[in-house]
Amino acid sequence: MWDAEGRRYIDYIGSWGPMILGHGHPAVLEAVSQAVSQGLSFGAPTEREIELAEEIIALLPSVEMVRLVNSGTEASMSAIRLARGATGRSKIVKFEGCYHGHADALLVKAGSGLATFGQATSAGVPAPVVQDTLVLAYNSVEQLEQAFAQHGADIACVIMEPIAGNMNFVRASLPFMQRARQLCSEHGALLIIDEVMTGFRVALGGAQSLYAQQIPGFAPDLTVMGKVIGGGMPLAAFGGRRDVMEHLAPQGGVYQAGTLSGNPVATACGLATLRQIQQPGFHARLGERTQQLVQGLQTAAAEAGLALSVDSEGGLFGFFLLPQLPQNYQQVMQSDGTQFNRLFHGLLERGVYLAPALYEAGFVSAAHTEDDIAQTLEAARAVFRQMA
Ligand code: PLP
Repeated sequence: MWDAEGRRYIDYIGSWGPMILGHGHPAVLEAVSQAVSQGLSFGAPTEREIELAEEIIALLPSVEMVRLVNSGTEASMSAIRLARGATGRSKIVKFEGCYHGHADALLVKAGSGLATFGQATSAGVPAPVVQDTLVLAYNSVEQLEQAFAQHGADIACVIMEPIAGNMNFVRASLPFMQRARQLCSEHGALLIIDEVMTGFRVALGGAQSLYAQQIPGFAPDLTVMGKVIGGGMPLAAFGGRRDVMEHLAPQGGVYQAGTLSGNPVATACGLATLRQIQQPGFHARLGERTQQLVQGLQTAAAEAGLALSVDSEGGLFGFFLLPQLPQNYQQVMQSDGTQFNRLFHGLLERGVYLAPALYEAGFVSAAHTEDDIAQTLEAARAVFRQMA
């Protein structure tokens, strides 16, 4: 990536996730140009919208029906409305540190104490809008059990990032994911997995495919998707169990619509991207490259006497200036912000563009070469030495 002054950067943000093939991939640009030449929007279904829906359904076994929208925010907002409409309940459970877009009910953080109803984190969100949003600590089985014991009959859904990329990189532990699934099933609530960041990036089948390998029969009721499925154009989706999705209008009573949803240019971009990432060995190669990066960073930090914990899955990675990987938001925030800023600015000056906050994940694309990783590690060694 080049900035306005012509400086070159190795980009580990990739537009916050969509650019899994890197910028300006020829097959994607070609598909978009062709689509543009046929017209921009028709407000009626097009073949590509159906093809993309079928592609998503083929890749995610838990998704029996899917609806396309324009952003991850819309997808999670609509999934929550659907969960409320399908269950006839109003409360939702989310986890501190997970981001699901900027819909009012989701802009909320935990109040003081355990398992509290949240407080709005944005001006302009009236208190009553978040009064039904219960915010729990990520990876706390105890708080989940307590929430269901107290409010089980009123909980419409639990929404979570399976790997929380909005607090850098924190995995949902297996017992936590398993208990969330069990509690939702026992109490008639829906489990919504937000794969806007992880979907098609950590594995072709998303993070849910990794949990399904370890938890027999694991599947969410609804999945929220975005980023990679649009390949850099505004496109997102939500989908899941047929009996739940059938509550959506026009068949069902839960309203959802969008003038530009399933837009033919965006779907062309998404389809071209999904076809590229289905080439044999794509995710294995991406995962190896990402591992090279994070392991190299850890070694470089250790050489300078700094503790750095790292984790990655497919093309998503995180690192913390902490001796151990954190499990929740409170632990993430114990990371040293001043040191992180020194690392960020040191790398930026040396042409490495990482997310500018310690609670953001990093993204590797198929366009990153071994040479890019080597250059990144050389820059990191120099910065770590200065920081030590
Ligand atoms: N969900 C997750 C996990 C995200 O990371 C994001 C955006 O970063 C969203 C939802 C919201 O998506 P969008 O920015 O497309 O509205």
